[in-house]
Amino acid sequence: MISVEEALAHVGRSARRLATTAVPLREALGLRLAEAVESTLDSPPFDKSMLDGYAIRVDDPAPTRRIVAEVIAGDVPRHAVGPGTTVRLMTGAPVPDGADAVVKHEETRLLDDATVELPDGKIAPGAGIMLRGSSFHAGQQVLEAGRWLTPIDLGLLAEIGRDHVPVTPRPRVAVLATGNELVECGEPVAVGQIRNSNGPMLLAALEEMRVATIDLGIGRDDREILQDFMRQGLDADVLLVTGGVSAGVMDLVPGVLAELGVAEVFHKVRMKPGKPLWFGTRERDARRTLVFGLPGNPVSTLVSWELFVKPALRVLAGEEFSTPRTVRGVLTDEVNHRGGRPTYNPCKIDFGRREAGQPTVEPLAWRGSADLAALTRANALAVLPAGDYQLAAGQEVDVIALSPRACGR
Ligand code: AMP
Ligand code: MG
Repeated sequence: MISVEEALAHVGRSARRLATTAVPLREALGLRLAEAVESTLDSPPFDKSMLDGYAIRVDDPAPTRRIVAEVIAGDVPRHAVGPGTTVRLMTGAPVPDGADAVVKHEETRLLDDATVELPDGKIAPGAGIMLRGSSFHAGQQVLEAGRWLTPIDLGLLAEIGRDHVPVTPRPRVAVLATGNELVECGEPVAVGQIRNSNGPMLLAALEEMRVATIDLGIGRDDREILQDFMRQGLDADVLLVTGGVSAGVMDLVPGVLAELGVAEVFHKVRMKPGKPLWFGTRERDARRTLVFGLPGNPVSTLVSWELFVKPALRVLAGEEFSTPRTVRGVLTDEVNHRGGRPTYNPCKIDFGRREAGQPTVEPLAWRGSADLAALTRANALAVLPAGDYQLAAGQEVDVIALSPRACGR
């Protein structure tokens, strides 16, 4: 059995960034921009009025100007500005030839329909005008490769006319729950049956990471049924199977995956809960699918998801591999630990309540790996190292927060 650290290193080596694809601009939010983007146009594309006002020549000494035309945004000026004349402009209108400043409408006074008086004092050349290309030029890089696209970035891409964007795509993840005892949430349960809680939990966790999901539902513990489902699931970038990876007679998942050409990377990890975790990869047509066989008990599934699946998904989406982030906290209660595996113990971390500058960590009572209700009260997992020992209240522990974070930032 390998350690959590070794298992994570395997996952880190197996996961790789998805191939760049062009997606429609409206689907690019939060994704990693795979290539630098250069503009094909100047911004602004013409000398542009930033005000509603009057286009003038600043070296024209006349205190009043004759209004020879009006240009609204979207129109093209047909009259140049010459001595003694002006063109009325609306914000966003192109500045006519001959003008080198725009005077704000509110600073002028209309003497009659066609004559405007300018304010006293000197008007600076360039006032009220944003010159063509003053934000960026055609050929200039406007967004660098590797950034996580924000709404503002999408606005800029729209400005330069990029309706498709080269990105690292959202990973596609298929979810299959296995077990003869399972029924879907809306169905009645007979004696011996339980409802499929892993499926909805994982699908929601994936959606929280803004990953594309494929819900394969429930597969009975039957070789052929599982083969059919898993074959479908292997079209995805990641296949998550829950249940059927322990040592029971119905734990068919590793065998079926092997039959489908999925190469085992590891099976069983020294951790509690989650020991039966299975991980493998399949290569097909230069595409790699990562397969996680998550132990069926919901708390084990969730802990395995946090520790191993999330870091893998982030790599596929374009981040560098990193192990789950831990923070230090101070225990509010004592903890007794037994056994040769580290325990990922549901706990409540409180960043608002600090002791010696560190957040407090309340270890929660839980009845083992099927106690999903205990996990609903938790917002983190305390990492309790292997061994037989007692930690007193006030001692420090490492904690993994269960807070969501999307693929990307
Ligand atoms: P397994 O890993 O298939 O041996 O399952 C371990 C335990 O988890 C058994 O008690 C199962 O009934 C339970 N279990 C398996 N899959 C699910 C699921 N999708 N939702 C809730 N419990 C499950
Ligand atoms: Mg089972």
